[in-house]
Amino acid sequence: MECPLPQTEQGPVLLVVDDRQENLFAMQAVLEVGNWRVITAASGERALQYLLDETVDLVLLDVQMPIMDGFEVARIMRSNLRTRFTPIIFVSAEAHSYESVLRGYATGAVDYLLKPVDPNILRHKVRSLLDHERNRRELLQATQQLELAKSFSDSLLDNAAEGILTVNEQGRVTFANAAIARMLRCSVSDLVHANFLDFLEGGSGLDDWQTSPFMEHYDRRETYRLHDARLRTNRGDSLPVALSCAPLPRMQRAMVIIALDMSRMRELQDQLESQAVTDALTGLLNRRGFNQTLEAALARSGRNGKRMAVLYIDLDGFKRINDSLGHEAGDRVLCIVAEQLKSCMRPYDILARMGGDEFTALLDSLEHPEDAARVAEKLLELLATVHRIDGMEVSLGASIGIASYPDCGHTVDGLLRSADIAMYEAKRGGRQQYRFFSPEMNGRARSRLMLEESVRNAIDNKDFVLAYQPQVYLRDGRLRGFEALLRWEHTVAGKVSPSVFIPLLEETRLINRIGDWIFREGATKLQSLQEIYGDELLLSINLSPVQFGMPQLTESLRQIIETHQLRPEQLEIEVTESALMHDIDYTRAQLSQLRALGVRIAVDDFGTGYSSLAYLRHFELDTLKIDQLFIANMLDSSRDAAIVSTILELGRNLDLEVIAEGVETLEQRDWLLEHGCEIMQGFLVSRPLSAELTGRFPQQVDWISRRPEPTL
Ligand code: C2E
Ligand code: CA
Ligand code: CA
Repeated sequence: MECPLPQTEQGPVLLVVDDRQENLFAMQAVLEVGNWRVITAASGERALQYLLDETVDLVLLDVQMPIMDGFEVARIMRSNLRTRFTPIIFVSAEAHSYESVLRGYATGAVDYLLKPVDPNILRHKVRSLLDHERNRRELLQATQQLELAKSFSDSLLDNAAEGILTVNEQGRVTFANAAIARMLRCSVSDLVHANFLDFLEGGSGLDDWQTSPFMEHYDRRETYRLHDARLRTNRGDSLPVALSCAPLPRMQRAMVIIALDMSRMRELQDQLESQAVTDALTGLLNRRGFNQTLEAALARSGRNGKRMAVLYIDLDGFKRINDSLGHEAGDRVLCIVAEQLKSCMRPYDILARMGGDEFTALLDSLEHPEDAARVAEKLLELLATVHRIDGMEVSLGASIGIASYPDCGHTVDGLLRSADIAMYEAKRGGRQQYRFFSPEMNGRARSRLMLEESVRNAIDNKDFVLAYQPQVYLRDGRLRGFEALLRWEHTVAGKVSPSVFIPLLEETRLINRIGDWIFREGATKLQSLQEIYGDELLLSINLSPVQFGMPQLTESLRQIIETHQLRPEQLEIEVTESALMHDIDYTRAQLSQLRALGVRIAVDDFGTGYSSLAYLRHFELDTLKIDQLFIANMLDSSRDAAIVSTILELGRNLDLEVIAEGVETLEQRDWLLEHGCEIMQGFLVSRPLSAELTGRFPQQVDWISRRPEPTL
């Protein structure tokens, strides 16, 4: 065995202590041959000094010495840690009494030699004592290392955050660390000798430890991992843990089980899961949560045959609140709405916010599909109430689509799509309404979907162009201006009528994107046209209701006017009656802003809308455009003729310009001239012109005011 002792190269060290020089020489001579090194000291003090600094393996100590005798040296050596176990052989010149020999042993001598010393015996003794000393030191070091290792592993086990157990082949706990005791809320001693399966939830289901998966893996010398185990604590709680069970070396006949506390992890997981299904703002379910719930409900009702209904609720007018009062106010409105919706639901109904201002509800266990209608009516009534937000009175409305199960779909997607389609129909029907889904809606929705897709592409590909239709004064044929009309050349379908795609652009809110483009394009054109026609020339631009509802409308127009160096009066905004009537207060505010900017305002398709002339007094307007339907029919229908002449009269009284739209024949022109109409627009004068042709239109149309010769 290799000797781990810290030895000099010359081997072990022998210290010979004697006050007489000749004795020292004699000893040196005797011990000359040997795998050791001999050091001498002439007094007890010198010996002790040496012993303090150097490692000595054996001391040959003379008993009789002046000042400090051998016994004294031995006593001091034994009291010092460094030399406590260094073997000492007493060497004495005279035979001692039995007592003094005993005293020598008592001070720590391991042997006693009388002078003269037999060299062979001395060498033999020295050799065997040195061997003995080496063994002692080796043992000492091994013990120290063992202790170190043990205290290291003890502290590892004690300080480990993971629970650590050893379980023997009989399933009993043979060791438990502090962490597992903490986890199980008991003491280590409660655990040791206990049955491991008693702590494992569902462990009692494993009636036999020997056939349990723990032992199965153990027998195969494999690690068994259980990611979602649960331990029962001493208090009866259940603690989620991950277990890993690895066999110890065979002779130990046990396995080590490490338990990881997963409760925090589970909590986080639960939190994440609930975040994933709830809407942070309102606390309702979100789209994902609703889909999951609906899916579960569908699976259930497949069994119990109950009817259900899905409601798709879209707020009307929310965007305007958001735009004008800011997002914070918008958020508050959404929370109020969520509360209102909740108050209409039965406890087992499900409510969700799908995003933006869209909500859904799942009405479970309905007796009749009509019950859903009652809920929808209640919702509409409640949502129409006025709220005060930031000191402003805010009123909302909603459009609701209803899809009943099983008639309108069997799947989550199917039902939601049907309810969504029905909701769009409700919106088209004029808001504040609800609609049940019907199969005809489906067809319409599908074509709308395709159209919506191509409109998006068209915007991206810039497939839209503007056409310009001239407006002329009837009196002298002078050009008043042009109305910009949007055109879409569809690559497959050819020309698509604006009356088809404009409502679609409105519904999908794409109108704002294209609206800005129309402003810029029109203004650029007007800038170039006024070089030909002068700066009295007008450009009429149509505004959809959504565009008219935009709070930043005036600002956008101001920028356009500045950029293109136009006079504001050169722009005429055409708005329909229904857009004006949607929210009277808002309209008044918007109109006065536009007036302040200086642009002109025309009411388009006049006469078709609310036919309430009362509002004309409230609004500041410039122009009325008689709807072409009246012009087309006025020669045949006295009722239509009466309407046209009334509008003309009204315009004169209120000092508004009146434009007759859709004039196609000379007869119509004559009638209009006779009744004092000042401006007209229609195929008779010109069809809408492409941008290139627009500049070629004459300043004045000479035949316009030429009345037919009176027939003789
Ligand atoms: P609108 O504003 O009443 O426009 C007049 C419509 O009548 C135009 O149809 C025009 O081509 C057509 N028209 C003009 N003269 C005659 C005529 O003598 N006889 C007949 N039968 N029709 C005539 P268009 O261009 O198809 O536009 C339809 C509607 O689409 C417009 O009605 C307007 O409401 C909307 N629209 C067109 N361009 C725009 C636009 O740039 N923005 C917005 N928001 N709406 C637009
Ligand atoms: Ca128009
Ligand atoms: Ca019109």
